[in-house]
Amino acid sequence: MIASALTSHDHVARWPQVRLDQFKALGGMDVEFMDALNRLCDIAEKRNGWTHRINSDYRSGGRAGSMHRVGKAVDIVFYSRTPGDVDVWTQFDFAVGSRLMMRVGAYPFWNTPGLHVDTKPARLYWLCDETGAYRYALEPDAVKELA
Ligand SMILES: [Zn+2]
Repeated sequence: MIASALTSHDHVARWPQVRLDQFKALGGMDVEFMDALNRLCDIAEKRNGWTHRINSDYRSGGRAGSMHRVGKAVDIVFYSRTPGDVDVWTQFDFAVGSRLMMRVGAYPFWNTPGLHVDTKPARLYWLCDETGAYRYALEPDAVKELA
């Protein structure tokens, strides 16, 4: 089910921890993915005092196989006071450790470093390096060694 099947009142009631105002295409997001994202953002706030910015959500274009195209991915920056003030690998460890997201990508070279997270049912981790090239690993620690 996608979020457009619910009312905007339902969205706010169901995902109170997510900055829904920052989504460009909330209606295209998958409801179960949003449930997981809500839990992730809830833990981020309660455990670490972090809020977040959503850089990208559902989008119809992009690479074939992208979880953004099925509303099961966001690009997100966790931060304390201003975006960029939490190290990308601290964000990465948090998202991986939550076990709520199957795949976590680290983007240290965004203006404000952050993550791609999605729920494709096959664990995978990656780094987007300074040239824009993707380096993949099956274990999160292996990704950090590529950095
Ligand atoms: Zn992404």
